[in-house]
Amino acid sequence: MHFPKMVEITEVGPRDGLQNEAQFVPTEQKKKLIEQLVKTGVRRIETASFVHPRAVPQMADAQEIVAFSKSLGLDFLVLTPNMKALEMALAVGVQQIAVFVGASETFNERNIRRSIADSLQECEEMFRIAKEQGLFVRGYVSMCFSCPYEGAISYEQVARVVSHFVQHGVDEISIGDTNGQATPKIVYERFTRLREDYPNTKFIAHFHDTNGFAYANTIAALQAGITAFDSSVGGLGGCPFSPGATGNISTNKLVELMHKMGIATGIDEEKLLATSKYAHKIIM
Ligand code: MG
Repeated sequence: MHFPKMVEITEVGPRDGLQNEAQFVPTEQKKKLIEQLVKTGVRRIETASFVHPRAVPQMADAQEIVAFSKSLGLDFLVLTPNMKALEMALAVGVQQIAVFVGASETFNERNIRRSIADSLQECEEMFRIAKEQGLFVRGYVSMCFSCPYEGAISYEQVARVVSHFVQHGVDEISIGDTNGQATPKIVYERFTRLREDYPNTKFIAHFHDTNGFAYANTIAALQAGITAFDSSVGGLGGCPFSPGATGNISTNKLVELMHKMGIATGIDEEKLLATSKYAHKIIM
């Protein structure tokens, strides 16, 4: 078995986690959550999304959260699902953006209301502008293993989106098990093949624990050479467009698992526990 000396964790709770909460979390509480996360030693956080407030009201305070993230000197990432969002992010000086496209046509149509081809076309333009401005670009690929509408997703469906991202200068790609149905076998095979086919690309594993396999899948990804993971404090969030999908993998459990295997994360477990309690308190 392969175990790296350390892994890199991107905390996605303030965005991916909170965006699934119907009840608006006051901006001051979001700021406090981000501040506490920074104190745990988390180095990188996805803090906001410039999605239209009508689509995701929870993210309506993105500008203020960005200003706060900047004031903390934080290494932070902001989701920009379309050109308009990118323009808003540029206007407030965001340095790292994330775009997303589904590997499943049906999911993409229901979630983003357009075909994969149209999404990729818009991404191409967004990548061009982002790169001109010197931004760091993360590409998310959703539904990389299976889809609630289409069932099994093939490697080719995932590679179609990955190839496009790579071709247009993506800096890293987060591979999502958005409905949380992957098993260690497919995780190992898919990441191994992705790393063979795109040897210069950094891949991140983004697991959801819907089926209780996310931690087994984490070990499978480690065996395939993946050392970067997305997770959410206290397991916050799911996906409002993916029926039945429960939360992201919990940063707390992920950190505990790594530490017990002698793999460093740079994160303090006790502080993280206190932060997850706070996170659960503010969504109630
Ligand atoms: Mg997620």
